[in-house]
Amino acid sequence: MSRTPSLTDLEQTDAFLRRHIGPDAAEQQAMLDTLGVESLDALINQTVPQSILRKDLLNMQAPRSEAEVLGYLKGVASKNEIYTSCIGMGYHGTLTPTVILRNVLENPGWYTAYTPYQPEIAQGRLESLLNFQQVTIDLTGMELASASLLDEATAAAEAMALAKRVAKSKSNLFFIDQDCHPQTISVVKTRAEAFGFDVVVDDVADLGQHEVFGALFQYPNTWGEIRDLKPLIDTVHAQNGLACVAADLLSLVLLTPPGELGADVVFGSAQRFGVPMGYGGPHAAFFATRDAYKRAMPGRIIGVSIDTRGNRALRMALQTREQHIRREKANSNICTAQVLLANIASFYAVYHGPEGLKTIAQRIQRLTGILATALENRGITRQNQYFFDTLTFKVPGNASEIVERARDARINLRLIDADHLGVSLDETSTRSTVEALLACFTGDQQSQDLAALDDQVGASGLGIPDALRRQSAFMTHPVFNSYHSETEMLRYIKSLENKDLALNHAMIPLGSCTMKLNATTEMIPITWPEFGQLHPFAPLAQAQGYKIMIDELETMLREITGFDAICMQPNSGAQGEYAGLLAIRKFHEANGDDHRNVCLIPTSAHGTNPASAMMASMRVVLVSCDEQGNVDIADLRQKAEDNAGNLSCLMITYPSTHGVYEEGIREICDIIHQHGGQVYMDGANLNAQVALTRPADIGADVSHMNLHKTFCIPHGGGGPGMGPIGVKAHLAPFVANHPVVPLDGPNEENGAVSAAPWGSASILPISWTYIALMGAQGLRQATEVAILNANYLAKRLGEAYPVLYSGRNGRVAHECIIDIRPLKAASGISEEDVAKRLMDFGFHAPTMSFPVSGTLMIEPTESESKAELDRFVDAMLTIRSEISRVEKGEWSAEDNPLRNAPHTLADITGEWERSYSRQEAVFPQPWVAANKFWPSVNRIDNVYGDRNLFCACPPIEAYEE
Ligand SMILES: *Cc1c(COP(=O)(O)O)cnc(C)c1O
Repeated sequence: MSRTPSLTDLEQTDAFLRRHIGPDAAEQQAMLDTLGVESLDALINQTVPQSILRKDLLNMQAPRSEAEVLGYLKGVASKNEIYTSCIGMGYHGTLTPTVILRNVLENPGWYTAYTPYQPEIAQGRLESLLNFQQVTIDLTGMELASASLLDEATAAAEAMALAKRVAKSKSNLFFIDQDCHPQTISVVKTRAEAFGFDVVVDDVADLGQHEVFGALFQYPNTWGEIRDLKPLIDTVHAQNGLACVAADLLSLVLLTPPGELGADVVFGSAQRFGVPMGYGGPHAAFFATRDAYKRAMPGRIIGVSIDTRGNRALRMALQTREQHIRREKANSNICTAQVLLANIASFYAVYHGPEGLKTIAQRIQRLTGILATALENRGITRQNQYFFDTLTFKVPGNASEIVERARDARINLRLIDADHLGVSLDETSTRSTVEALLACFTGDQQSQDLAALDDQVGASGLGIPDALRRQSAFMTHPVFNSYHSETEMLRYIKSLENKDLALNHAMIPLGSCTMKLNATTEMIPITWPEFGQLHPFAPLAQAQGYKIMIDELETMLREITGFDAICMQPNSGAQGEYAGLLAIRKFHEANGDDHRNVCLIPTSAHGTNPASAMMASMRVVLVSCDEQGNVDIADLRQKAEDNAGNLSCLMITYPSTHGVYEEGIREICDIIHQHGGQVYMDGANLNAQVALTRPADIGADVSHMNLHKTFCIPHGGGGPGMGPIGVKAHLAPFVANHPVVPLDGPNEENGAVSAAPWGSASILPISWTYIALMGAQGLRQATEVAILNANYLAKRLGEAYPVLYSGRNGRVAHECIIDIRPLKAASGISEEDVAKRLMDFGFHAPTMSFPVSGTLMIEPTESESKAELDRFVDAMLTIRSEISRVEKGEWSAEDNPLRNAPHTLADITGEWERSYSRQEAVFPQPWVAANKFWPSVNRIDNVYGDRNLFCACPPIEAYEE
């Protein structure tokens, strides 16, 4: 007779673990049987080098249930105080339309999608991003826009880099208008120093005295003033330099766009288009330039092409410019950006339309005018003559007192110094905001006749200079003028979502990207107002909840990685690389080793590594790999010796991008250290290390963590992400600081690498929640099962496809590479045909041609069940037998289901004259029919798209076809 369970038995503390991990105990055993090992422990012992394998559990709190963790975090969040923010400085209150909040931001159909490298199953988000580009083009008045960058400050740094690439001027000097936002100035200075550019931060009145390759202006400037940029732009052009303008997107609805004033690059934050401030991010930056500079543009561009039926289809254009391919010659190291947030901003524009945006902008501007006039009537005069939403006041000796009074009214103002303060209004401002502000300034409750003020301001046209009132139309495309009712909007969002394959449909087995579960409980906190509505420069006393959460997360990450300190600022993995290399550079400089600038990088490295090294002005020296895919230690030793005097660092990914735990990793780190170098570990593969080993214990000095890979932040269709770095104590003084919110730890003089002090702070609760739910044991099991799943796939697929690399005992790490090249040689079927054919089965392809071209890299993660893995294997084995039929000549090289993949509804409902059946085309396995995903277009022509580059919404006539 079985024992009645006790209460302790019934209190399952590991309840979340079995939700996060795909295979249950029985499935795990079945997979172990397939591998011929008796236990998970035995598999790990066979796989992970003994020299680095930990025996002890991590020191962490015991796992808690989902309800408990949410309850605790709610308590923490409630220590954040939500004040009305009038700080401005690039971050503004906004109202996320709830139809977008629920159906995009809170919808796994949008947030779990991957970067649209497989465009046939990504037409929805590609359309939304094309809309984003069109909004950018229209509002900036430029010819060409990209899909999104990380934030306004890093976009400014990218603008400077673009100017250097294309300007005819031979000058090495970049001019920064002193009236830009301080965080922008800091990030640009950091980047300029890394690149070896000179910068001058000065009054624009002195612009003509400098010989420059480019200049940066802010429009309206940080004090709210609206200046005519035309004369400044002409001055820069006269020197053959480029004029870069940071602009407020919403203000451009009312102002002459910088493009019409002659600007060469226009960029800024799209945050106030419906994306919560979130204590600094994530938000999308927009970036626009001239058509002539398209090949010099950083980040992704969405372009229009055609599919095999000649139908219009979208894709990422000019991919050959990307860091994946251009490596150290790439325009930038941007990989993960802010796609989800760009989509939200673009939907905000679609929902409001040009008239709606105009109403919002005019309302803000009118309220600002009323505030300005009422204060003027009371003898408080503003410093800026013109304004959109921001006013700067001189209040001799009174600034602190007014700011204090505002705080009592739960309003934050911008305290500039003892005599000056700033006020910014936004979409959330109302008449009562204005009344409350008046009371704060004057210290009395004297009532104001707002209606009379309104008449006065309306009649005078106060605020915007006549010469800079926008005359040109914008957002005239039907997409911005069709979906203004909620019903229409809901259906538009849904229609796009239906075209995209995300994790809520099937596994996305992308090697190096770790597409694991993004649990609902982890996502819930990010839309709590207590996390969403804080301005990044709000007083620290109001952000105590954030402080607790970030401190706790740092403690967790320190324990997981073994590092002494964490820098939370970088908002992507590649930004982490850049930030880490800068810390190494500063460390060498502090030791008087300014000359140490050689960065060793194995040939197998991700393209962001050499691209980031370039940004830190390092000289890249490649280290070869041996036949097993491991770093060739003899070559490494040789190159380290050859460059010993100038060695800065090694960048290495562990386990390697070949999916193998290199046995020699400790030796590799030792060699670098012996020659005075530092070890940068690319942490993209941390999912194969967590709780089994630690980067710092292996020998790394600094490493980034892709929180959007290992720690469950969803990929969002290509961002957001977070790439904090862990450093050993000797590097800790050299990580990024912040000019507005000084951080404890790093040297005071260190500049910023991102706009906000803690990067995209509002998504950190996702990683915090994951770790809190898993606990030490759970994290270890996750890593073990990730390794089990990968080895199971390698074993089963190995029957049909050669597995390219494996380590000791023939085991792979958490991912494996299968080689399609021999099959291609025999049959003509390529890795791309396999990738497209997988769509017919409802799967997203694995990583294609990285790190080895002609291969597929598969990473199942711990979250996929055995049932899903078996379906994937089924699909791959079916594809293998199809390749055989081509090989044998049963099907011709052109007329076969692989070459024609993916198949659409149009294919099977039209004429059918192919040598295989409709059934074989679209239901290649019986289980496919039960959950069929229909690619919305046929295979897309990449070459056509790049030759006929078109990156905006189709012209209006196209809608009439
Ligand atoms: C994803 C990845 C990166 C870049 O990280 P992002 O967050 O996309 O910038 C760098 N290296 C490797 C190996 C990666 O897989």
